[in-house]
Amino acid sequence: MNVDIDVSAKIIDGKKTSLLIREWIKSEITKLKESYNFIPGLAVILVGDNPASQIYVKNKEKQSLESGMNSWKYILPADASEKNIIEQIIKLNKDSSVDGILVQLPLPKINTASERNIINAISPDKDVDGLSIINSGKLFSGENGLSPATPSGCILLLKEYCANLAGKKALVIGRSNLVGKPIANMLLRENCTVTMAHSKTKDLIEECRQADIIIAAIGIPNFIKGEWIKKDSIIIDVGINRVESIDSSKKQIVGDVNFNEAIKVCSAITPVPGGVGPMTIACLLVNTLIASCTRRNIEAPIINTNF
Ligand code: NAP
Repeated sequence: MNVDIDVSAKIIDGKKTSLLIREWIKSEITKLKESYNFIPGLAVILVGDNPASQIYVKNKEKQSLESGMNSWKYILPADASEKNIIEQIIKLNKDSSVDGILVQLPLPKINTASERNIINAISPDKDVDGLSIINSGKLFSGENGLSPATPSGCILLLKEYCANLAGKKALVIGRSNLVGKPIANMLLRENCTVTMAHSKTKDLIEECRQADIIIAAIGIPNFIKGEWIKKDSIIIDVGINRVESIDSSKKQIVGDVNFNEAIKVCSAITPVPGGVGPMTIACLLVNTLIASCTRRNIEAPIINTNF
């Protein structure tokens, strides 16, 4: 017997949720304007002319403005030094109208040590990307701070699908500072039992088979196969990989999980595109909203995770 699967019921729709979050931000900004007469503002620093970075920055600017925020963009040449970039950050740290500062990564011609210095030069209360050593430390030690946007987006999507994550076995594949490590800490906060996997993990397939939740942040197209996945697990696919389309006519974006295989086994999955991706900017704007209140000693609005 051929039983049809209701595929749409299994899709965790990040596009829809991110839109609801941005509508919520807009209404909160209207209230702040009325009650306290200020508008939160996000400043983005773009170094060089990487086409992908230009698109990301343009989208951040567009969505900030659509949400009713102020938005500023600072473009520095590709050969800007660590010192040049930090000088720009210091000016923005001092500017009281700026609530959030983001340096678009990756930085061309800047090594990892310099990148760390640049990120750590952002005032922690304006570090809306949540990547500075202070905000990372707060996340890892369970204190309130600004948390990285993509991991926050993953947790919001997970909680929308599964309100109580306590006791679930979560496998995070990938251990970057940007995605894997913060997600693992956020899952711990939700009382999951967390395993972190990486390129040296001995038996990844067995780890996948044990997991109630898989977060894939690897950067290899369609890497996780359907047969590795435990029945009724929840899959959050962070990967963004550009590959040739089947007819080779143009590039297409796919995740780290083989979506067509996984959807037959799991209980829910984020698609790529349209899953985690749209949540990243929405969560960045949430952070800017929170930063704008915290800096003014105003109680920050709390996002309702039940959209
Ligand atoms: P990254 O810094 O390159 O880290 C990749 C991680 O995957 C590393 O920890 C690496 O392990 C692990 N890995 C590589 N090959 C593996 C294998 N065969 N088995 C198990 N683990 C393996 O990448 P990232 O910045 O975290 O990004 C990961 C993906 O998420 C990329 O596709 C990126 O484009 C995407 N992303 C999406 C968003 C969004 O908004 N949706 C935001 C950020 C990133 P080792 O540490 O051992 O090398």
